[in-house]
Amino acid sequence: TDIQELLLSRIRDVADYPQPGVMFKDITPLLADPAAFTALTDALAEVGTRQGATKVVGLEARGFILGAPVALRAGLGFIPVRKAGKLPGATLSQAYDLEYGSARIEVHAQDLSADDRVLVVDDVLATGGTAEASVQLIRRAGAEVAGVAVLMELSFLGGRERLERVLAGAPLEAM
Ligand code: 5GP
Repeated sequence: TDIQELLLSRIRDVADYPQPGVMFKDITPLLADPAAFTALTDALAEVGTRQGATKVVGLEARGFILGAPVALRAGLGFIPVRKAGKLPGATLSQAYDLEYGSARIEVHAQDLSADDRVLVVDDVLATGGTAEASVQLIRRAGAEVAGVAVLMELSFLGGRERLERVLAGAPLEAM
């Protein structure tokens, strides 16, 4: 569609970042274009509305930039999932494996309840490890995952297959 073409045209490929052999998808040109940023916000918010979400979770850091306007657009609360050690209150914590070593993400335990249906928002789905950990975290907080919505997926990394196994029927939508 026209919107997909607009969004794609505002993503910049950066070779060898953050390390040699990696082609990084840089979304800063999209953020700098209010027409594209609005179109993306509207498209992601529509997913939340369609899936009956009650909250939007954004994944640090670009998921904050996208998730906050999406939450407001859909009339929902925004909840940050942060890298370990950044949230001041009582947290739930979830570890996940990286290529070398592991990482940990956290959420404020009070921010989610059994009444919540959560839309997870991030910019890029790569291996799916971050999104998978966020799904586990949200469920451990007692809430339901309504779906995962990203700007784009790097299909050659197999993130969709990995994430769909844990999503168990909840949708993964890429714009
Ligand atoms: P994954 O856990 O799926 O391997 O990696 C996804 C996370 O890393 C997301 O939070 C995403 O922001 C970031 N990421 C990985 N590759 C890229 C990329 O090429 N471009 C951008 N913008 N983010 C990426």
